[in-house]
Amino acid sequence: IKPTIAQKDVTKHILKTFNIRMSKKLGQNFLVDEKIVRGIVQAADISPGDTVLEIGPGIGTLTQGLAEAGAQVVAVELDLKLIDVLAETLAGYDNVRIIHGDILKVDIAAEVPAAPFKVVANLPYYITTPIIMGLLEARLPVSVLVTMIQKEVAARMVACPGTKDYGALSVAVQYFTQPRMMFDVPPVSFIPSPAVDSAVIRCLVRDQPAVAVADEKLFFRVVKAAFSQRRKTLNNALKTGIPADQIQPALAAAGIDGARRGETLSLQEFAALANCLK
Ligand code: SAM
Repeated sequence: IKPTIAQKDVTKHILKTFNIRMSKKLGQNFLVDEKIVRGIVQAADISPGDTVLEIGPGIGTLTQGLAEAGAQVVAVELDLKLIDVLAETLAGYDNVRIIHGDILKVDIAAEVPAAPFKVVANLPYYITTPIIMGLLEARLPVSVLVTMIQKEVAARMVACPGTKDYGALSVAVQYFTQPRMMFDVPPVSFIPSPAVDSAVIRCLVRDQPAVAVADEKLFFRVVKAAFSQRRKTLNNALKTGIPADQIQPALAAAGIDGARRGETLSLQEFAALANCLK
């Protein structure tokens, strides 16, 4: 029987045995709370035969939970020192494949040919947004992403129009997925304790984007411009990304008052506005 890695004494023992000094730069905070690992596996609704892409397995803490639940796991870890550790801590699980690489550079479609697959990760916080947006924009056959991220960032992803957390990230995540906050995770659940609170968020990937847009690039340009200066009205903020002479006609055609601020617009309104631009 393999010891559960998600325990303080087991993790400390592994770190000591392999003489691992954890890297802040790589966002290394390892889970030492079995309940949280179980919670993540449950939130991802893992059943035997599911294919899972795990990002940043560390010393194999969450990987073990996923493997025990019967998933076929492909785990991508950037830190070469941890590759040897993983070979040992996960020896005996024939349903785990470890890849040494940078998740932002790996050819995921080639490494995870199954369709659909799930993404489950305790993410390195310094690249949360590029990882999640990269996976969504690549339109890989991902059915769901269950990730532990900084709580503040999770709050922005699920935020509704008109709230302080609502911004370009909320629109982008909600365009591709139905995000839901699952549970909070305190700093004490990790070694070392991060300086921020964490949360597990589940993003169910939509079959079709939430709104129909004629030109996706233009849609995201409008969103970015609308939030570029939060205190400004749309009349002014949109000028940062849209030719000035097109703004008034498009707002009028979409039936949106230019005196409003970007943070009050729903996804539907952003889509209407973008679709009224040339
Ligand atoms: N999954 C482990 C756990 O839950 O205890 C470790 C999570 S730790 C927050 C993040 C992991 O991501 C670290 O192991 C780190 O080395 C790895 N990592 C950092 N940047 C990465 C990248 N660009 N690609 C793949 N892994 C990365």
